[in-house]
Amino acid sequence: MSQYVGRFAPSPSGPLHFGSLVTALASYLQSKSQQGRWLLRIEDIDPPREIKGASQAILSCLEAHHLHWDDTVTYQSTRTHLYEEKLHWLMEQGFTYFCQCTRAQLSSLPNGSLCPCPALSLDMTKSAVKFKHQALILEFDDNLLGLQTFKKEALPAQFTLKRRDGLYAYQLAVVVDDIQQGITEVARGADLLDATIFQLALFNAFQAKPPVFVHFPVVVTPEGKKLSKQNHAKAIDVGSASKNLCDALAFLGMPAPDAYRLETPESIVTWATKHWNLRQISAKTARIDNRIGELDSI
Ligand code: GLU
Repeated sequence: MSQYVGRFAPSPSGPLHFGSLVTALASYLQSKSQQGRWLLRIEDIDPPREIKGASQAILSCLEAHHLHWDDTVTYQSTRTHLYEEKLHWLMEQGFTYFCQCTRAQLSSLPNGSLCPCPALSLDMTKSAVKFKHQALILEFDDNLLGLQTFKKEALPAQFTLKRRDGLYAYQLAVVVDDIQQGITEVARGADLLDATIFQLALFNAFQAKPPVFVHFPVVVTPEGKKLSKQNHAKAIDVGSASKNLCDALAFLGMPAPDAYRLETPESIVTWATKHWNLRQISAKTARIDNRIGELDSI
């Protein structure tokens, strides 16, 4: 069997908060409990959303929690030539069209229908490059949550590969990198469950075997919203790494014995790697909201 290769892929739009630590820890444990490699990829392809110093803060925070990655860190901002090359390949294969619609125009379209742009002779100037589905994939088997099915009517007929402002979209970069880095399992938060459908369409277009997908429960606010920088989630206090790790394990439904609260991050992570069992993880928060249609801005 080929070696497990996992990854943690934060966007540097702020420092890690408790929710992102839970995802980092769960994906690390999923990898290391299978003697796998755990890669770190900083998804810094959206400069307007990037917070200065966030990448370095993420790296230091992971190290303080003894979550050490393998190989060197990959920065998406250094790989745009690869995204351009793959985008051109998709264009040549007829998977794309140019679009000049605004976000409001697109969201007023009934799901499943394309805007008029494919019929116009637009070129790349001031256009977004959109992926248009050829064969819709409407389900996948999540390694924790089981079979996930999506209704055709709930899916937009397109998604963005390159934005009108010239920036590469998350869906393209993430799939190009997951293929190129040989990721065997994508382990991430359930807030990205819906994105998987778009990503599977891209794996299919690239004729690449998709990885296994596993989506972990996400930490939500009392109002049921995902903890995020937008709702002012507090940055992780790196001075309380042992407590943070124990809290994250308890959230995942795998509490460490109380005595571990006084242990070093290293011994907590070692204990957790030994005891990690995906089947024991609570799947309490599966689909927190239906984000299909809003995913372009990730
Ligand atoms: N960069 C994305 C985020 O921080 C995660 C990408 C992924 O795990 O696929 O939300």
